[in-house]
Amino acid sequence: MPGPGGPGGRFGRSYLTEEEKASAPKVTPELLKRVFSYLKPYWKQMLLVICAIFVSSVFSLMPSVLTGRIIDEGLIGRNMSALVRLIILSLAVTLGANLIGVLESYLNTWIAQHITFDMRNAMFRHLQKMSQSFFTANNQGDIITRMTSDIDGVQSIITNTLSSILSNAITLLVAVVVMYRENWILATVGILIIPLFVIPTRRAGKTRWSLTREAQAANDEINGILNETLSVSGQLLVKLFGKEEKEYEKYKAANEKMINLNIREGMAGRWFRVVISTFSSIGPMLLYLVGGILMMRYDADLTVGDITVLVALLGRMYGPVNQLLNIQVDWIRSMAMFTRIFEYYDMPIEIQNAPDAVIPERATGEVTFEHVAFSYNKERQILKDVNFELKSGHSVAIVGPSGSGKSTMINLIPRLYDVDEGRVTFEGIDVRKIDLTWLRKQVGIVSQETYLFNGTIRENLLYAKEDATEEELIDALKKANIYDLIEKQEEGLDARVGNRGLKLSGGEKQRISIARVLLKDPALLVFDEATSALDSISENKIQEAIDPLIASRTSILIAHRLSTILAADEILVIKDGEIVERGQHEKLVDAGGVYTELYRTQFAKALENERERAEGLWDGVVLDDPDY
Ligand code: ATP
Repeated sequence: MPGPGGPGGRFGRSYLTEEEKASAPKVTPELLKRVFSYLKPYWKQMLLVICAIFVSSVFSLMPSVLTGRIIDEGLIGRNMSALVRLIILSLAVTLGANLIGVLESYLNTWIAQHITFDMRNAMFRHLQKMSQSFFTANNQGDIITRMTSDIDGVQSIITNTLSSILSNAITLLVAVVVMYRENWILATVGILIIPLFVIPTRRAGKTRWSLTREAQAANDEINGILNETLSVSGQLLVKLFGKEEKEYEKYKAANEKMINLNIREGMAGRWFRVVISTFSSIGPMLLYLVGGILMMRYDADLTVGDITVLVALLGRMYGPVNQLLNIQVDWIRSMAMFTRIFEYYDMPIEIQNAPDAVIPERATGEVTFEHVAFSYNKERQILKDVNFELKSGHSVAIVGPSGSGKSTMINLIPRLYDVDEGRVTFEGIDVRKIDLTWLRKQVGIVSQETYLFNGTIRENLLYAKEDATEEELIDALKKANIYDLIEKQEEGLDARVGNRGLKLSGGEKQRISIARVLLKDPALLVFDEATSALDSISENKIQEAIDPLIASRTSILIAHRLSTILAADEILVIKDGEIVERGQHEKLVDAGGVYTELYRTQFAKALENERERAEGLWDGVVLDDPDY
């Protein structure tokens, strides 16, 4: 996966350098064209902004020019009415410049918000199309940072960087023209001072940029740690392994790295400001001196007002020059940000509808695997030459040691991943040729790790069928053997689940997810049985819910319990990604192979317990044996 962070991105320096390399801002015409393509839909508003910036820049320079006339015509010329007129004019243009400034920032913000709105939506859309491997290979913190801070950064580029480039450039241009019209010698002297800023600014800019990259990587790292440790399951792991101190140390170290970087970044800008402010006071003095010499020694055609205008204009140039040079840093940073965002946009969508995708006429759940080979990454082959056929209305149980590739096989049916070799067919058609939305609608998976949204039970159920009626919901819950529990809740179907609501056990969650799949009413049902220990009551309830389902539709069962296995028409025994045995229980159990071994180690004990329970030996026994 050509992810910018690469797999496991948040670990160590290699990630940082990769990141730096990947986001090193090579400002190519293509990149600029792409950035500006986001502005294009808003070109009318942009044009208005440019006009506003132009007028407000000219207006804001006018008081400086008027100062010369106030001094020469008003004060030295002792003309009261001219003085008052010029002062009022000066105040009026200042007010005008500020009012136009308000309009400009409104428009700017409006444009920026609309552009980021477009970008965010497009990014969300794009991310949703990414295959599962993208989400397993990329750190959640990275993805969220890109969706949030990077796109926020783009907004600030538009509101601040772009408008500041424009207004500063216009101010400088107008100031230079006016200065040369006043006196070319003084204008040249003033302008010669300016390059003195360039050297320290460039240096500081470079340092600041590299620090920003590092700070961003550190921020990603912190987000990653928070996401991992402050989630429900993360906390559970931390607590059970007593890793609170370790996690705290890890967090503290990342945090410390971040503050150090932030301090260094803050200071990198500070030093060169000292240099610049020193130079900025040298400029006016030099103009007074040269102006004085020109007036007194060379009798030049210069008035006091002219020199004042030149000094004032020079003073007005420092800010824009300073900002424009700073902008170079912001510009590089912005380009890096755009590059980072575009990297995500450019990630190929690995799994998408074929141009000639079809919708099969029937949906019976028939599946075949034909010489299927698959690997998550090139290093390790997970599935090797897997062949099987599941006929409509039949069921198949997949058994095998942990990590043998059972869930992986299932993932290939709704195309969460695509096969490397061979093909998976649904209704006799290669799944890669079937309309993706249709295909996924036909496959209902009750997975081991049940995911319920942090919402009400009703919301979780409606996710499968938006227009389900109350009766349908209740019916599904009843069939899933969970209605009793929900009925007992004060809020019934509107009881919240998750962090802020009803705490459900693994078995209860799985039963709700069975109800959810029932509402989806898929042609093919996949039941990934929980390996985790459920109490026998829970287990029975799930079994009772699932049995009629298996009997009534095409199903695949990833089974860990003998009763589930026995409900299937065929058993596939998978080991190291290969189907090593297949057939009926009676035949396999005596074959002396992997199944016999599994039977002895896993199922026999369960069977014995089941028998004991049937004989009443378990009556009154509190089940707390986690192995069962
Ligand atoms: P279990 O019974 O424990 O659920 P399983 O038979 O379902 O195991 P799979 O989940 O299919 O096993 O995993 C098969 C192998 O593929 C494992 O070795 C696992 O480490 C690897 N694997 C699973 N998911 C990924 C992934 N997203 N990226 C890389 N490797 C993966």
